Amino acid sequence: SAEQLQAGQRAYELDRAHVFHSWQAQRPFEPMTIVDAAGPYVFDGDGRKLLDMSSQLVNTNIGHQHPKVVSAIQEQAAKLCTIAPQHVNDARSEAARLITERTPGDLDHVFFTNGGADANEHAIRMARLHTGRTKVLSAYRSYHGGTQLAVNVTGDPRRFANDYSAEGIVHFMPAYQYRSYFGSTTEAEETQRALQHLEDMITLEGPSNIAALILETVPGTAGIYGPPAGYLEGVRELTARYGIVYIADEVMAGFGRTGRWFAVDHWDVTPDLITFAKGVNSGYVPLGGVAISDAIFETFRDCVYPGGLTYSGHPLACAAAVATMNAMDEEGMVENADRLGRDIIGPALREMAQRHPSIGEVRGMGCFWAVELVKDRTTKEPLAAYGGSSPEMNQVIGAMKAGGVLPFANFNRIHVVPPLNTPDEDVRFGLEVLDEALTIADGFVC
Ligand code: PLP
Repeated sequence: SAEQLQAGQRAYELDRAHVFHSWQAQRPFEPMTIVDAAGPYVFDGDGRKLLDMSSQLVNTNIGHQHPKVVSAIQEQAAKLCTIAPQHVNDARSEAARLITERTPGDLDHVFFTNGGADANEHAIRMARLHTGRTKVLSAYRSYHGGTQLAVNVTGDPRRFANDYSAEGIVHFMPAYQYRSYFGSTTEAEETQRALQHLEDMITLEGPSNIAALILETVPGTAGIYGPPAGYLEGVRELTARYGIVYIADEVMAGFGRTGRWFAVDHWDVTPDLITFAKGVNSGYVPLGGVAISDAIFETFRDCVYPGGLTYSGHPLACAAAVATMNAMDEEGMVENADRLGRDIIGPALREMAQRHPSIGEVRGMGCFWAVELVKDRTTKEPLAAYGGSSPEMNQVIGAMKAGGVLPFANFNRIHVVPPLNTPDEDVRFGLEVLDEALTIADGFVC
């Protein structure tokens, strides 16, 4: 409406005057104004409707303004907006029950945080106290959050400027077949070599020093490169053998994104700790947490856990989580994500890969897909260098926006990560716009 656009203009001016943005040089920077959002769509400051194929930061898993979750937040606000974490609260108790009903194995306890980064910080703290060790192994090509320890264990360029006070953090090369560091030519070879490398790292760093290994089950922003068959099972076996706490970061991959409640369910692997955030309540109110195994819980049965947050298990956030999980069940959203991946997104992207020479690889599952763009399929030279954007990528992104789609882009990749309940015809529309934009990328192929 005209009022919304006017309010948007005012918001833009105030933003430019006073708001300091994340991961960003503040000037020149022209952020997009969003004046409204509904389901898988957002409406920008010029009144244009865009399909949100990014799910924002891959967190609005049930789309925008789901009425059941909006009502639950409103009801909780009318009942009790906030309460300190030491008190029992029904929204928090029920959220913990629903989460632990979905986590694998004996991960039956939840420590709530405000988001993903602090979930990882606390998971590492628990692992260090549980083992009495300090070192942490984490993968290159990963993202674990923006707070100090979380950004130190991160394996992407956002770490570089923050890489101090990172004692005891050691990065290893993960399995990533498309750009195999190990020179593998088959999936089995990649698994075997990546696990051998990991075991060598453990041996060389000293197993008795290593508290935790943190790994995204399906690395998200780093490229949605799912693990090759056998890799996660191998990680589980190695960490168990050396007494290392295995932390699965499912902040992005969890809560239905891959077509399972947790991505580890695809491989039947039970980590010691799972960190989650984003999709747990579709990002409607900030919430994250750590799901904790019985063995680690036992460490803190009689021994104080030295950590906490004013908003741990915030009632508004937990009420939103309860309503989100229930809505996902009632509306079959996890199954729908699986179906969208199998029947629509996967086949469409594979078919595009046959026609567009700029596509180096497509990969993914559920509503979690990456299209890796290259200038040359043989050399795999990326359309934007690692760690940066490029005019070529910007043209592809610009064409998608002009076509009515808000994409998620990182370096040389476009991610297809719509809400799990996006109607089929809207998913098809988003894919058509991507298809069209890729003809621009094809023009840069040598
Ligand atoms: N871990 C993963 C895998 C993520 O994708 C993110 C955010 O993108 C985080 C952790 C950090 O979560 P937050 O931004 O909620 O702190």
